[in-house]
Formats: sequence, C-alpha cells, structure tokens
Amino acid sequence: MSNVSVRVRYAPSPTGDFHVGGARTALFNYLFARHHGGRFILRIEDTDRKRYNPQALEWLLRGLRYLGLDWDEGPEVGGPYGPYVQTERLELYRGACEELLKRGAAYRCFCTPERLEAVSKAQQEKGLNPGYDRHCRSLDPEEAARRAAAGEAHVIRLKVPLEGEITVHDRIRGDITFQNSILQDAVLMKSDGYPTYHLANVVDDHYMEITHILRGDEWVNSLPLHMHLYRAFGWTPPEMAHLPLILNPTGKGKMSKREERAPDGRLMPVFVRSFEEAGYLPEAMINYLALLGWSYDDKTEIMSRQELIERFTLERVNASPAVWNYQKLDHFNGYYIRQLPVDELARRVLPFLERAGYRVEWNRLLAIVPLIQERITRLSDAAEAADFFFRDELRPYDAAELIPAKGDAALAEAVLRRARQVLAAVEFRREALESALRAEAEAMGVKAGVFFQPVRVACCGRKAAPPLFETLEVLGRETCLKRIGRALELLGKPAAG
Ligand code: GLU
Repeated sequence: MSNVSVRVRYAPSPTGDFHVGGARTALFNYLFARHHGGRFILRIEDTDRKRYNPQALEWLLRGLRYLGLDWDEGPEVGGPYGPYVQTERLELYRGACEELLKRGAAYRCFCTPERLEAVSKAQQEKGLNPGYDRHCRSLDPEEAARRAAAGEAHVIRLKVPLEGEITVHDRIRGDITFQNSILQDAVLMKSDGYPTYHLANVVDDHYMEITHILRGDEWVNSLPLHMHLYRAFGWTPPEMAHLPLILNPTGKGKMSKREERAPDGRLMPVFVRSFEEAGYLPEAMINYLALLGWSYDDKTEIMSRQELIERFTLERVNASPAVWNYQKLDHFNGYYIRQLPVDELARRVLPFLERAGYRVEWNRLLAIVPLIQERITRLSDAAEAADFFFRDELRPYDAAELIPAKGDAALAEAVLRRARQVLAAVEFRREALESALRAEAEAMGVKAGVFFQPVRVACCGRKAAPPLFETLEVLGRETCLKRIGRALELLGKPAAG
C-alpha cells in the first residue's frame, strides 16, 4: 500500500457526550493514519436533527484536543474535501439520490408513518420480523416523480436485492456473509430533506476518498446495506475494519453509556471530559485506550504515543471484545504522573489546586510537587494530598491520631512540647530539621518513629503524609509552630508553657 494514500476518518454524530468508546475509535484511526503517514479526517455526521445536541460538538472537539488527537482535515482546520459537517453538504446527498433514482436503484416511497406502523404491527401479529413491505417499490417512477413534484411528502429508499447474499471482507473479522433476504429497503433520504446516516456516510466516504473505515462493531449490521449502496453507485468501497466491543469492568454487557457509581461511591467516568476533569493524563488515556482491542506483543504495556504510532497495525487488532479496567487505567496514570518532570507536573496540577480554592504560588508549588508526585494517582488527588500546604486551618482530625501506637496522651504532649522548642530555633532546612528532631528523640529516649508521629499529625493533620522533613521545610516555621500549638490544645492541654 502506498503510504501517502491512506485516508481515514472519525465520523461521530453529535448527539451527546463524547464517550471513551468513541475516543478509542478516534485513536485507532489516528494511529493508523500516523503509522502510514496518511491523513486523519474528522467528519461531523449531524443529519439526525432529532438527536442533535449542540453541546456535543464542543465536548467532542475539546476531548480530541485533550487527548492530542489532532485531525488533518475537518472542522476548524478545513481541508480540500470540505465541508466536513454533513448538514453543510446536503446538496451532494440530494444529487446522489437523484442519481440512484435515475439508475433505478432507489425509489420514492409515499407511505405515511401511520401506514408503516400498521404494517409492522400486522407483521408482528403474524410472528414475522417487522419491516417495510415494499409497497411503493413497484410504483411507476414517472408517476412517483410527478407526485413528488406536486409536493407530496415522501422518502427515498434503496432497492436492495431480494435474494442472494453479499460477502464483505473485514480486516479484523475476516469474511462476513449476509443474506439479502433479511435486508430492508432502507430509507436514504428522509421526508425532511435530510439524508439518513447510511446515505450520507457512504457518499462522504466516497467523495472524501476514504481508504479504510475503522469503526465500532455496532456498525457491522449496516455493512450489507452500505455495500449495496456502493454497488448501486458503481463505487469501490473502502477497506473495512470493525473494532471490537468494549465491555463493562464485570466483563458482562457493553460498557455503560452513562456514568454510574461504584459500590464504594466513586463515580465511574465514561465520558472523555470526566476523565479530563478527574485528572487523567492524555499520555495515560492514549496508552490505555490503545490496548483496548490492540496489543503489540502480549506483554508490553507502557508505550509512548510515538511507539504506538510506530507499532500500530490492524493485524494486531483483536476481534474479541475488550474489557474496561479502571484499576489498569489508574496504574497507567500513576506511572505517567511519576514520569513527568516536576515543573510539568506542577503546571498540570495547578488548575486542580486552584479549582479547590487554594492560592498557589508557583515557586512554592515547585517545592510541593516532588512531595506528592509518588502519592497521587490522578491530578485531582493533589487537592487532597497537598491540602495541608494550602489551608490556613487544617481539616479537623481526631486527637487520638496524635498519640503514637505504644504511647499515651502524655507522651504525645511531651513530644510536641520538645518538638516545638526545637522547631522554634532550628534552621528550617531538611537536613537541619532531620538531625535536630532525631537528636531530640534520642535525648528523650524514644524511637524516632514514635517521636515523629505526633509532629507529623500536628503539622499535616494525618498520619499518612509525604516525607516529614521536606514537608516541614515547605510549611515553614510559623505554620509548624502554630499547628503544634493547636495540637496541644486538642490534647486538652493549654498551648502556653
Ligand atoms: N456517525 C456514526 C457514529 O456516530 C459513524 C459510524 C461510522 O463510522 O460509519 O458512530
């Protein structure tokens, strides 16, 4: 295959939120295009006006940008095959329909919705599959054209062959054969003058010179119809590749289209913007999504965008469904967070801290980030993991936390008093803090770990916190002394003395 010739498209319908399933389809198209040095095209399939949602396009474009799936042709960037929004191409579909009518491959149908309903009801009652009874297929085309010209409402339908079968080769699933007898004379043009998905999709793929169609498995059933359409036009269809389904984490059923809560109360995101809001890195998303139905060698998991582009081939796309796994994504995200240079991670967590209402000073943030880098899985975790750096008042904690496991309140109090004395005088640098506090523990005759716990809880409000001395250094003398004072109050002792 000549490299420059590859043209693939992601062709979403803007009906709702941008789902990760769609993102996976977009990614596979993107990787395939980049691997072959081809073009990745974004086309908006918005001819279903009833399901159109004006916000969907915004979510989609934002989601693609967040993931870094930059398109070579499409909305906002333009291109030589535009426009890339179907409602701006209506004339093309109308002309295509005329052509099919002229070829005798399509016909006008004047059946009313009421009649269609009555037909399918009668079929159901007879135990037959409901569908159109082809009532208008035998109308005289000239008569039909006259009625249409007189303004009678109608749709245009494809005349599918009544017998025989059609075999389609799918690059992932192999040959798939469909019996023509099960097909419907699908509507191509609706009475509102808008094409259906089938017509617009086929016409655009042809005129946009799409070479490969990579799309979700749910479109397999449309294949025979599309193939008959290509034949009716006398066009060569693109190569087909239907990507495997994505299943729910349980492995049962298709991945949810809605966001639900896990048993532990945590929201399980399924929309791209929710992953962005939770602080999943695009690097992790791309890596994770690439493995949903594709693999490199059955063991390599972590791969950069560049490696994915170099390695992606349709031959390694699996036909069987992929199971969504939040833990794996979290693992990837934690990994990529730890790989980031400190200033880059600082840049990425900053909006999350600001959203939590914290006033963040850049240089201080650069000191804090290394302390939380190992401790967060998602960027949004930073607000919680680092809250004691930003809050004036610590989040309320239980005084019992101040008391070391093999000690009592008196010990905690004694430690805190001694620590306060040390911290009032010592130089506030990691090394100085460490040696002074260790020396004090020794002088007091308690283990370092025992000594550090009340100090840590007093200053951070929790037992599990970043390394103590670095943390104290960033907090600074004034804050540490004030918080130790509070802790002593909490232990039921007055702060003075
Ligand atoms: N508009 C269809 C969708 O929303 C496109 C399917 C296809 O790629 O042919 O998924």
